[in-house]
Amino acid sequence: MTLKSERSSALDALVKEVLRRAHKAGRRELEAWRKPQRELRELARLDYVRAMRRTLDYHALRAIICETKKIWPQFNREQFRSKTPNQLAAISSDLRIHLQAAPCRGPEGMALRGFYMDKAPKVLKHPLIFLNTAHDRGAVSMTFTHEMGHHVTAKVTGHAGDGVHYFFNVGHRSHLGEPVELAADVIASLAAYPEPIARRIFTTPWDWGLVARADQLPDKAFAQIRKHVRELTGFDFVASLPPGQSFNYLTGMIHYAKLRWALLAEYEL
Ligand SMILES: [Zn+2]
Repeated sequence: MTLKSERSSALDALVKEVLRRAHKAGRRELEAWRKPQRELRELARLDYVRAMRRTLDYHALRAIICETKKIWPQFNREQFRSKTPNQLAAISSDLRIHLQAAPCRGPEGMALRGFYMDKAPKVLKHPLIFLNTAHDRGAVSMTFTHEMGHHVTAKVTGHAGDGVHYFFNVGHRSHLGEPVELAADVIASLAAYPEPIARRIFTTPWDWGLVARADQLPDKAFAQIRKHVRELTGFDFVASLPPGQSFNYLTGMIHYAKLRWALLAEYEL
């Protein structure tokens, strides 16, 4: 696939090398990816308010959201709709980000959604985002907003952390314990569920007591989330996907929705 973004053979070689290392870096995630039901079950039960409070600093979170609004003034007001790789390349090029996108198929290829790499002297002049376009277009857009989350976090904190940030299809559980990854997921979650929509979906008066929590999604909210994702991405879970992959996408949907719920319940965002 040829994109409008800047391409060079050095960059291509770097992407190849990083992709080659993915199997080693993500050994644990790849193992979990083969049993997607386990993560799904665990995340469905987990209280996201507690997980979020433990991992993310509120002031850092506000700063990251502010930084995102400089790029997308309508952030958390309007949905970030699914985009074609060329549209994503145009956005990236405006922000001076190298965007590379290619399909990585096969069972292990599908385990990877993409990665983010901060600029590095000599090796990389600008930050690099890689997107695995073998995934459904809605999922690719979601990966993009997650990687953009790394980009804004890096701007706020001055660095993106060390090395490559791989995004594995089954890595949601581990993101809950890693501030940099969870911050990126918060950006993706707010992009998918802006405040007006979140307030409509998560109207559960029984949960707005003194202590906010976001554990078991009520059936009504789940039905609305599924409808929302279908409208946003044109994507439906049960239709024409291998069962494992369907589970992986479903886990992602639950993860981002519950994170969104926690942001609303705890911080009124
Ligand atoms: Zn990440």
